[in-house]
Amino acid sequence: MRAVVVNGTRDVSVEKVADPVLAGPDGAIVQVTASALCGSDLHFYEGEFPAVGLRPGHEVVGTVVEVGADVGRIAVGDRVLVSPVIGCGRCAGCRAGNPIDCVGGGVRVLGGDVGLPGGHAEAVAVPAADAWLLPVPEDVSVDHAVLLTDALPTGWTAATRADISPGATVLVIGLGPVGLYALQAAQVLGAGRILAADRVPERLAMAERLGAEPIDATRGDLAEQVRAATGGLGADAVIEAVGQDATLSAAIASVRSSGTVSVVGVDANFAFPIAVPLLLIRNVTLRFTTAPVAATWPTLIPLIRYGRLIPVDVFTHRMPLSEAAAGYRTFADRTDGCLKVLFDPTR
Ligand SMILES: [Zn+2]
Ligand SMILES: [Zn+2]
Repeated sequence: MRAVVVNGTRDVSVEKVADPVLAGPDGAIVQVTASALCGSDLHFYEGEFPAVGLRPGHEVVGTVVEVGADVGRIAVGDRVLVSPVIGCGRCAGCRAGNPIDCVGGGVRVLGGDVGLPGGHAEAVAVPAADAWLLPVPEDVSVDHAVLLTDALPTGWTAATRADISPGATVLVIGLGPVGLYALQAAQVLGAGRILAADRVPERLAMAERLGAEPIDATRGDLAEQVRAATGGLGADAVIEAVGQDATLSAAIASVRSSGTVSVVGVDANFAFPIAVPLLLIRNVTLRFTTAPVAATWPTLIPLIRYGRLIPVDVFTHRMPLSEAAAGYRTFADRTDGCLKVLFDPTR
């Protein structure tokens, strides 16, 4: 089959690779219908995490073509969502739906290490299929299904962990797909006022159309702009959806005392400096989150199905998998208004 392979920094190609095989009797093989490119894939692309030989792609929907003997809940022919965040599927944490708490080998991310090839490919092997695959309800579109594998759960979880009280002022930093869905989640959770910060005019315009107040981060210090907009207080809740030192610092500087900063941006810095006394004296809560993707589906699917959450369309680019190298480059360079890329692995 064909799959995207990372060859080095800013160098990916579509290669002929061996067809995937079952990870074990609890595994399944999913023929990929659509897979999307995500900001976190860029850490491999840009060489921030070592990745030569890695096969990326963790936002995947497809059709089950093979299951192991121990798989009971999923059958060949099922159209499925794939949770990219996976655990052993058997321990207490996994059985509670949260692979982050897996003690049977620990949490892993599909396409996140060389040993677990991802879904920018024609097919993908998923371990513990009963735990990490979900048949897609008929009335969930392919676009929404792909978004339910990461961007929507991550945006949603960012908001649920930001301690948003009804009427609260929420700041969202970073208006890529995850930030936009965090913004929409904050609305569902009852935020009164939403400030939305980014540097890209089209993204600010999108947030404004969704009802947020745009803050152009190119126009001076972000935290100063937030304080000016909030009578000097800062935001009750801040969601950081970029993953850079500068935006994480801005998030911490923008929260009001006794407020919460909820971080889902993937910062590759192992030594980020935190001004502990400032957080301590101001009673700031700081949370970092990897979304327990599968655990969010029972909440998000009904919200979407019944129109309480209408995910804004973020797929600016739809292309054949064969053009993946161009897709990665366009997305990494943010050229051509690129917000999110959807690959069709049949082409
Ligand atoms: Zn992702
Ligand atoms: Zn487990």
